[in-house]
Amino acid sequence: MSARNEPSFRESVDLMFNRAVALMDLPPGLEEKIRVCNATYTVRFGVRLRGQIQTFTGYRSVHSEHMEPVKGGIRFAPTVNQDEVEALAALMTYKCALVEAPFGGSKGGLCIDPREYDEHELERITRRFAYELAKRDLIHPSQNVPAPDMGTGEREMAWIADQYARMNTTDINAKACVTGKPLNAGGISGRVEATGRGVQYALREFFRDVRDVEKAGLSGSLDGKRIIVQGLGNVGYHAAKFLSDEDGARVIGIIERDGALFNPSGLDVDGVHQWLTKHGGVSGYPDATHHAEGEAVMEEECDILIPAALEGVINLANAARIKAPLIIEAANGPVTAGADEILREKGTVIIPDMYANAGGVTVSYFEWVKNLSHIRFGRMQRRQEEARHQLVIDELERLDRYLGDAWSMTPEFKNKYLRGADELELVRSGLDDTMRIAYQSMRDVWHSRADVQDLRTAAYLVSIDKVASSYRAKGL
Ligand code: NAD
Repeated sequence: MSARNEPSFRESVDLMFNRAVALMDLPPGLEEKIRVCNATYTVRFGVRLRGQIQTFTGYRSVHSEHMEPVKGGIRFAPTVNQDEVEALAALMTYKCALVEAPFGGSKGGLCIDPREYDEHELERITRRFAYELAKRDLIHPSQNVPAPDMGTGEREMAWIADQYARMNTTDINAKACVTGKPLNAGGISGRVEATGRGVQYALREFFRDVRDVEKAGLSGSLDGKRIIVQGLGNVGYHAAKFLSDEDGARVIGIIERDGALFNPSGLDVDGVHQWLTKHGGVSGYPDATHHAEGEAVMEEECDILIPAALEGVINLANAARIKAPLIIEAANGPVTAGADEILREKGTVIIPDMYANAGGVTVSYFEWVKNLSHIRFGRMQRRQEEARHQLVIDELERLDRYLGDAWSMTPEFKNKYLRGADELELVRSGLDDTMRIAYQSMRDVWHSRADVQDLRTAAYLVSIDKVASSYRAKGL
């Protein structure tokens, strides 16, 4: 974890913000307004478990309400604290602005190790926490919309949605109070994979521009690139799986709580994931070398390092030894401000968290829109689209008959072309578009301004400018 003389997570985010804002021409008052966290609510509540009352501490932080609702995940971890929740809420503000999701920034957390409780106990704790937040409109379809984060997933979101609906029986939009729900409880196809999928789309866009690839000292495409990933949870697993299955990358290292697996010829991501789910750790997995000192594997030679677990894991203590020329921050805040400086000086290219993991909030935005419109994406258009495609196919088949052996339509083309897009395809298309456009806005700043040397500063410049415009439009 972070070396002792490093700033806290929130201070780290503020330092990065300050670096960028120094290159802008904002009035100091507005600068301060954007930087500060508007409010943090702390709640302590009791739940009777195993014959006695246990007290839990939770937070919900609202960083910026320049747009409402505010949005941000709820994390369950024993290390949750106010500083962390405020840092994550600030990142949500910048992230939503960068990918043009119309939300302010928020985040929540509960100090709990979810592995210490059974499902029934967790449900009671989650419902009680949701009750405390909903009572104060800190869960609300038009004011504050949580989502999953570390230690939470679809199951917890379904409990939260149900708890809100029980408290607001006449609210027709109740389902839109939280995103990341299971499909049968108002969720959207593609939300579970969204953040990892977004990491894949981000890397694909990076590799589309040879100038960017060269800045990292790399060449070619994602095919054959060696990847090390830290954390094989929701985000890390999906990113690693898609990059290896679909882009030909080779995942050579996987770092988890109980050490790391390393295999230079590539690990079977699904195999490791199944092992992890079954055994609760990676040790004992065959076909790889196990290193008890997991974090040291981040320092191995590779082309792309994907920290996808915790904040502060690349810090003053290890930054100088990181060999990866390209880091994509799938987790929030994995690189401290001090480490960021060391890596920048070394020429390491960092695709920053506020962009890299924005796939989650992007698809959450689609889910929220789906809940408010009360209809699945594609339901109205799909068959009409297929009927129009059928017209083209009919004409091509006529041509086929006319041309004889000289030309014929391949059956794969016909099947692919005929099929109208379902919700999952529409979600992936919207996500891909969002990730490309947001990357291009960072890239433009990175390449066009001599005073901007890194993608993080570029990302901050784009997003702070958008937040500032919102405040100006409000007359602040
Ligand atoms: P998760 O709980 O599903 O997975 C986290 C994984 O990291 C787990 O497999 C866990 O065992 C592992 N881990 C924990 N401590 C570790 C350690 N010390 N070393 C190595 N591995 C460790 O969480 P997640 O939802 O995948 O979130 C991971 C990161 O991504 C967090 O920073 C989160 O804020 C960020 N993020 C998540 C989402 C989302 O949609 N879930 C969206 C944006 C950002």
